[in-house]
Amino acid sequence: KAKEKGGNCYQFFTTDMNRQAHARLTLENELRKAIKTHQFEVFYQPQVSTWDNRLLGAEALVRWNHPQRGIISPVDFIPIAEETGLIKDIGDWVLDEACRTFSQWNQEFGLKLQISVNVSVRQLDDLFVFRVQELLKKHNMPASQLELEITESLLMDNPQENIRLLENINKLGVEFAMDDFGTGYSSLSYLKQFPVSKLKIDRAFINDITTDKDDEAIVQAIIAMAKTLKLKLVAEGVENHEQLSRLRDLECDSYQGYYFSKPLPQQVFYERHLLTAESRRSATTLQS
Ligand code: C2E
Ligand code: MG
Ligand code: MG
Ligand code: MG
Repeated sequence: KAKEKGGNCYQFFTTDMNRQAHARLTLENELRKAIKTHQFEVFYQPQVSTWDNRLLGAEALVRWNHPQRGIISPVDFIPIAEETGLIKDIGDWVLDEACRTFSQWNQEFGLKLQISVNVSVRQLDDLFVFRVQELLKKHNMPASQLELEITESLLMDNPQENIRLLENINKLGVEFAMDDFGTGYSSLSYLKQFPVSKLKIDRAFINDITTDKDDEAIVQAIIAMAKTLKLKLVAEGVENHEQLSRLRDLECDSYQGYYFSKPLPQQVFYERHLLTAESRRSATTLQS
């Protein structure tokens, strides 16, 4: 009896495993095809001043326009792209696209908006450093207009090698922002060793900042620490005026979030934030 039952369990287990493995393999193959057939699109989410909503720059966020399944969130395919190494091709494409778009807009309107691009630890190697350099040349883009977002996981595996690579990119003039700050498990002493110039406060803390005293205290501590270490700050995931107002009280200078704007397709960003004279007046200009 027991053996029979065990057999059944085993059967069930493998079927489930097979299904999962199959779904993964399908996704992996579809990802490969997506790269070849240009199914990716970059959306841009504005980053603005807490004080006057002046446009400072944007974060580039990739979307997958799947021919059957519609838009797929990066949350659902970036992890597989990372595991399979396909993130290198996708990441290169996003970086090229984002640099082309923003360097063109900055030149067209005399602005110096900063474009912020997410980079996975799996993308980092000497060739990547070289490609960043080539991209800046290709798009005639000042390095200060590009920012790369990294996460704390980068601090954990192979920190010495990663520090070396980040420093080489930093020497070009490209800055780094620490994404999802506060959710990781890196120590502050590690943070000090990395050439990071900005902290992005994770939206988990912003979410309850007006209702949870602990979250408010954490945000306050992060802001105080950033000021001591002379790091810039962005609050992520601001969804309402109460949260924004609290961030002003705590003197956090910039934010992004649905309250100001969701991530937008390129054309919509252009029309809404650059095309009108009024929107441009409030953007960071070359003179400011
Ligand atoms: P992230 O870098 O932390 O990006 C911020 C995420 O928060 C985005 O999700 C954005 O749409 C979302 N968000 C912004 N404001 C709000 C808000 O007010 N409320 C809420 N609930 N969410 C908000 P998205 O676009 O789905 O991207 C998810 C993650 O996927 C990113 O998190 C990033 O880790 C990764 N990702 C996206 N694009 C790329 C890419 O080109 N390369 C790499 N390596 N990772 C990427
Ligand atoms: Mg990010
Ligand atoms: Mg983030
Ligand atoms: Mg993230």
